[in-house]
Amino acid sequence: MAFLKLDQENEKSPVTVWDRLSGTEREQVFAFCEEYKEFLDRGKTEREVVIAACKIALERGFIDIAGKGELVPGDRVFMVNRHKGMALAVIGHDPPERGIRLVGAHIDSPRLDLKPEPLYEDGYLGLFKTHYYGGIKKYHWVGVPLALHGVAVRQDGSKVQINVGESPGDPVFTVTDLLPHLSRDQMEKKMSEGIAGEALNLLVGGIPVEGGGAGRRIRQAVLNHLRDRFGIGEEDFISAEIEAVPAWAARDVGFDRGLLAAYGQDDRVCAYTALRALVGLDIPDRTAVVLLADKEEIGSAGNTGMQSAFLENFVAELIARRGGNHIDLRLRRCLSASSALSADVNAALDPNYEEVMDKLNAARIGRGVVLTRYTGTGGKKGSSEAGAEFVARVREIFNREGVFWQTGELGKVDQGGGGTIAYLLAAYNMDVVDCGVALLGMHSTFEVASKADIYMAYMAYGAFLRNA
Ligand code: MN
Ligand code: MN
Repeated sequence: MAFLKLDQENEKSPVTVWDRLSGTEREQVFAFCEEYKEFLDRGKTEREVVIAACKIALERGFIDIAGKGELVPGDRVFMVNRHKGMALAVIGHDPPERGIRLVGAHIDSPRLDLKPEPLYEDGYLGLFKTHYYGGIKKYHWVGVPLALHGVAVRQDGSKVQINVGESPGDPVFTVTDLLPHLSRDQMEKKMSEGIAGEALNLLVGGIPVEGGGAGRRIRQAVLNHLRDRFGIGEEDFISAEIEAVPAWAARDVGFDRGLLAAYGQDDRVCAYTALRALVGLDIPDRTAVVLLADKEEIGSAGNTGMQSAFLENFVAELIARRGGNHIDLRLRRCLSASSALSADVNAALDPNYEEVMDKLNAARIGRGVVLTRYTGTGGKKGSSEAGAEFVARVREIFNREGVFWQTGELGKVDQGGGGTIAYLLAAYNMDVVDCGVALLGMHSTFEVASKADIYMAYMAYGAFLRNA
């Protein structure tokens, strides 16, 4: 694609990525996004994304690193972390001490998790208690069809996959909202208090069993259904991970189909584009790695989150299989010499809410992949802020490789803010900068991205993995 550095000031340079794409390139963008939509529909939880990513990797010649002895340049391997995270690599020519090129994204998204003891009956209804996961606006989750996805593990270790609400004939679940006629008190509350966390209860049943005590007959009917359909009992919910997610599919938006909306694009848009970039690589000089992490939306803690040693362990496995003894110093040298993109979404300027943005430093829909030097809140707090030298290198790669890109800050100073896994990658002493797709309605149940920007993320990650 032709090179174009898009000017930041929209008014002075009203050019979008679309203006610079040929007819053939537009067709590539649309075709790519059809495959992306399938990926989104197959992967609505971190576990499902891992399965979908493994499928793509296996089709493109990747194998589980456990089945691999010595690694040579061109080998393609992956490692899965507890079904919820994974790392993939294409082995390069250079020795490990020269570092890896890494693109790290996360595959968890905000949702409603079932509580360990979810089931109760009230008002002649069967309900599931939920505990929301990640930063949600609770009003998005009422009055909409929800599907249940997840896994229940019985105490003998056997597993039951649960996926109800996605097939056309399936029932769905929903959280009811209060009717406007009786909402006088609710409407006077602050938005953050209008819907209580403990009111996010899923409707799961309405037909009682025959006989039995008052207030327990519908609850019993739900238990019977769970036993008959899934072979699980009430205690199995304690060892289950079941998530309520929007029951709809990814859709094109607008008459021209230039936009794509779906649940969970934060951060599966970066996960998918990074994965596609990696599987398309020829043998690189430096080893190229894509990391798909869990738990970013709740602070990256836990053994599947970015704070765990998983990435470090994966790189150690790569080094150990490249010949010579594996010594700690080789791992440290590798990590310190590495460069990374923290592949996560950013906020696009929304014409309905432009007052929260500094227009000069805001990302715009359709203006390319977004490079974000720092995130953080209240004076960049929590940000790993990329160094100028590294940002210059990345900029040079994007310009040379014809990647349409822009810069974007997450909102005005002191308006709020946020973070990504960048600071945890930086903690390995590697170079890292945030780079991803700009979204409208981030963390809503129907996040919107430009198809041109999605394709530019794919191009950017490929350019980085080949050149950084
Ligand atoms: Mn994110
Ligand atoms: Mn997020």
